[in-house]
Amino acid sequence: MTKTIFQKIIDRELPAEIVFEDEEIIAFWDITPAAPIHILIVPKKLITSINDIKDEDKKLIGKMFLIAKDLAKEYKINENGFRTVFNTNDDGGQTVYHLHLHLLGGRKMSWPPG
Ligand code: AMP
Repeated sequence: MTKTIFQKIIDRELPAEIVFEDEEIIAFWDITPAAPIHILIVPKKLITSINDIKDEDKKLIGKMFLIAKDLAKEYKINENGFRTVFNTNDDGGQTVYHLHLHLLGGRKMSWPPG
């Protein structure tokens, strides 16, 4: 199976500006930021999308949000606010089929999203 862009980042075959990493999760700056702060939080385990998460992934998904919370504080967007997004499949706007949580902040977000 061809590696996803994010798998290549995890395997250090592609560069990224990494802001967090442990044995289960990596987080790095989005290469095309949609906001002043735009970080992607990515589990190292290959899960294609939310459609593919399983009961056994509950702790991992929860941990992704705890990391988002910590990064929001580190980059000082926790008080003003921020947005966390999982895009799923074509209608959801997903382009990389390796689960990732977008952490966006540093500007006022509009609603509904485009
Ligand atoms: P999505 O459209 O939800 O699948 O999000 C994929 C995100 O990955 C987009 O916001 C892209 O800008 C971002 N992206 C694609 N390639 C890279 C890369 N090499 N390094 C960092 N972010 C990337």
